[in-house]
Amino acid sequence: MMRPRPARVRLDHNAFFHLKFVKMALYVALYVKKNTYRVKSEIGSLETTKEKGEMAKQAQKAATKRCCYTFEEGDGANKKLLGGKGAGLCTMTQIGLLVPPGFCITTEANLDYFAQGSRIPVGLMDEVHDYMEALEKKTGKGFGDPKNPLLVSVRSGSALSMPGMMDTILNLGLNDETAQGMVALTGDERFVNDVYRRFLQLFGKIGLGAQDAGFDEIFEEVKKEQGATLDTELSAEALSTIRERFKEYIQKSTGRPFPHDPWAQLLIAIEGIFKSWMGKPAVDYRRQFNITPDLANATAANICTMVFGNMGNDCATGVGFTRDPGTGENVLYGDYLINAQGEDVVAGIRTPRPLKELRTDMPAIHRELEKLRGILEKHYREVQDIEFTIERGRLYMLQTRNAKMNAWALCKTSVDMEKEGLITKEEALLRMEPDMLEQFLHRRIDPHAKIEPLAVGISASPGAATGKVVFDADRAERLGKEGEKIILTRIETRPDDIHGFFAAQGILTSRGGKTSHAAVVARGMGKPCVSGDEGLDINYDLKEARVGKVVIKEGDIVTLDGTNGNFFLGTVPMLDPELPKDLAILMQWADKVAKLEVWANADTPDMASKARHHGAKGIGLCRTERMFNAAERLPLMRSMILAESPEERKSWADKLMPMQRADFLEIFRTMDGLPVTIRLLDPPLHEFLPSIEELLNETSRLREFSQMINALEQLPGTVTLLGPDLYQHVPSIEAVTRELSEFKAKGLDQKILNDKEHMLHRVRVLCEYNPMLGNRGVRCGISFPEIYDMQIQAIFEAAALALRDKIDVRPEIMVPNVCTLQELIWVQPRVEKIHLEVEKHYNVKIKYKFGTMVEIARACVRAGTLAQTAEFFSFGTNDLTQGTFSFSREDAENKFLPIYNTVGILKDNPFEILDELGVGWLMQLAVSEGRKTRPDLKIGICGEHGGQPQAIEFCHRIGLNYVSCSPMRIPIARMAAAHAVIKERRGHAASSKSL
Ligand code: PEP
Ligand code: MG
Repeated sequence: MMRPRPARVRLDHNAFFHLKFVKMALYVALYVKKNTYRVKSEIGSLETTKEKGEMAKQAQKAATKRCCYTFEEGDGANKKLLGGKGAGLCTMTQIGLLVPPGFCITTEANLDYFAQGSRIPVGLMDEVHDYMEALEKKTGKGFGDPKNPLLVSVRSGSALSMPGMMDTILNLGLNDETAQGMVALTGDERFVNDVYRRFLQLFGKIGLGAQDAGFDEIFEEVKKEQGATLDTELSAEALSTIRERFKEYIQKSTGRPFPHDPWAQLLIAIEGIFKSWMGKPAVDYRRQFNITPDLANATAANICTMVFGNMGNDCATGVGFTRDPGTGENVLYGDYLINAQGEDVVAGIRTPRPLKELRTDMPAIHRELEKLRGILEKHYREVQDIEFTIERGRLYMLQTRNAKMNAWALCKTSVDMEKEGLITKEEALLRMEPDMLEQFLHRRIDPHAKIEPLAVGISASPGAATGKVVFDADRAERLGKEGEKIILTRIETRPDDIHGFFAAQGILTSRGGKTSHAAVVARGMGKPCVSGDEGLDINYDLKEARVGKVVIKEGDIVTLDGTNGNFFLGTVPMLDPELPKDLAILMQWADKVAKLEVWANADTPDMASKARHHGAKGIGLCRTERMFNAAERLPLMRSMILAESPEERKSWADKLMPMQRADFLEIFRTMDGLPVTIRLLDPPLHEFLPSIEELLNETSRLREFSQMINALEQLPGTVTLLGPDLYQHVPSIEAVTRELSEFKAKGLDQKILNDKEHMLHRVRVLCEYNPMLGNRGVRCGISFPEIYDMQIQAIFEAAALALRDKIDVRPEIMVPNVCTLQELIWVQPRVEKIHLEVEKHYNVKIKYKFGTMVEIARACVRAGTLAQTAEFFSFGTNDLTQGTFSFSREDAENKFLPIYNTVGILKDNPFEILDELGVGWLMQLAVSEGRKTRPDLKIGICGEHGGQPQAIEFCHRIGLNYVSCSPMRIPIARMAAAHAVIKERRGHAASSKSL
């Protein structure tokens, strides 16, 4: 027998509705035949016809829009409408898995909530009532019925998973009466009190805005009073005390009593869930992971019948993955807790047990889970992240979603699932977001290092990190911004610690398992995490942690190894990362698909060999200027710059030539068989000289030298005058003075001063107001031809020497900063002349290409003529971005760009994300004009954007031949190049978007 339904809260609950919307609803009622409103109110006069029309339109839309779907009805493919969680519950129900009955309130309802000024949409609660009624029928229970109460969970869930960032309320429907009924039904007062106090805390926090800490304090206070260390040691009476104190706390802290009416609870809970979409953790998370409204724009609210994992020892709660999300191994993986509710596992309040132990604890359930993981993977063709509850020996599924995995696991599962026939090669590739490969670049602890961990926790997210211990997220954020390396160290983490995660190098917790909040979030971010390090006793008040007798203070340096859970004091030896073996398979597939080649920006033999190791198909940019900074070369370079005549300049250049030749030869050897693009000197010459300030300071000190010597010569006498004690210093003063006097007598100080003054003079001559737009690149090459001649000579001689050693050498000479064909016409004959001379001298044939950087807007516009001489183009998008925006690449990022990004003038930093509409447009023009002149014109990109996946996709779309990026980004670029093709084939290619 069901108790009569309590009065409906919905539209009579005037407090929730602005008069305008009530008016609006009634206005519509006159027009809309299929009127679903039952509102008692008066129609006042509506302001204007336009307003009436608008309001009518909105209300009509709301009135006819369906907001609820049962799990049997909902379209599991429509995550946008039902949220990921809702869609998963619908799918699982429909493919025959046991899911507690329930229904979803759509994301559209949440959108309407915000559109209507954070008010529950008109008609929604009516619909919810109907669905609750159906739920009562299905379960045979009554909402608010003390004899057989229906309790529900209200869970958030948007189209994209945002683990732990939004809210969930469990056990809704409990009040003093229904709790009494539950006791009568279960005979377990302790269980009911436990469930009730959990509900009060969640509901109080999410629905009514009470602070979590207040509940925690009460809980700990009662535990202390009872002498309990574990939650499970609390008696029914103790829990009853807690629940009563919780109610008082709610009243005191929110000024509102806890509502005993379950319908009022439901309304408040739905509103709480809706609001959590705009909560700080959710907003921060979306910003960090670039979750734009077209990906997920609201949360659904899923109302699901409660099942209990905390009703005794034949009950449990668990979370798991259909494969190991840390390694990708094809095994059921996760944690469970007997006699507990879901939040205990996720919040890391108790340390759970690994799922493999369920095989002995509950063998039948373990078998069922094994079967079920196969069913889910077959349906979703993706590794699933599941939540379940075991109530009195029955396994209920509460959630399934695509698992978030680290790059290792993604890589292995991609290859395995393709082999198992679950996915195609293309799908396997698309699973690997190119930027994820960066995780392979994490350092790890040298396995041969003789080090002992201080403590061992759970390996929650792989990789190793060293940093200063910081115990709270706000401080971690602040110090992180100041450039400190941080290890965020917490007893357990919560969603509002998210900003601390962003700032930290690694995360360390003393509680929680592999699926605790800390573990899941860190894995998603690819940051190392050690969780459940129970040997670590953290005291936030004292800002210290203890491991046995060892005390770790905030600011102490520690190292953690998320791959095996070890935790060390201080720094430890680390190793550079290695790529996993399955990646090689994926990379082979990627290279087969990709059309763009991936080359490297590499200036040294070491970088070249790294590039080759990562699969570079050539060097797209060898910046020769970086070769002049070595200690033995810089003085020669300076002398060459300071030279007063071409002859003198050439004599210094001749000294530098063998050094450049040796560099090029080594790079040619390393890149045997692959093209090497060598760019002639680019930066302004004064970059190799000291600054004017430095030189002014030095010359003034040298000028004062004579007076200083005179003073020193008189110093021994003065010292003796001052006191006999000081006499002991006289011999050393005399020794220094003697040497300096000789220096002066020989006139050496004057020579040094002359040299410095000469240098100062040249620096002044070379100084420019705008050096990036001044005498640099080809302009400098034309002003001082001896420099380019020397470099060209070195390139061809190195090539000749390499050829003699049977090395397949393919030099490509690239001219920087070109804006007109005439510049190329000036350089090219010199190249050819030296080429012929070297061929003759060494008696070899050297094949080479001559080309240009395209990094000036005019070069893009005049690309058709440049291609008459240039055999290849390489886009220098760093300079091209600078020139197109007229944003100094040295200043913009520290000065106004962050403001531009914050106020939305620019969505991205164009030096990082290619501006497709502006810079990209110029590139496209250059490609088409260049190829009109020379159809086989080879075109690449060597600006920083060449390693950025979105820009790589763009480069593919406009028909470039290769992208060139730093050696460590090569795997990322190769994957991005494959994605570009697959997305194009599938019609998913992005269109150029920017502000
Ligand atoms: C560029 O401008 O994009 C480029 C690669 O050259 P640099 O960064 O050396 O000026
Ligand atoms: Mg440049």
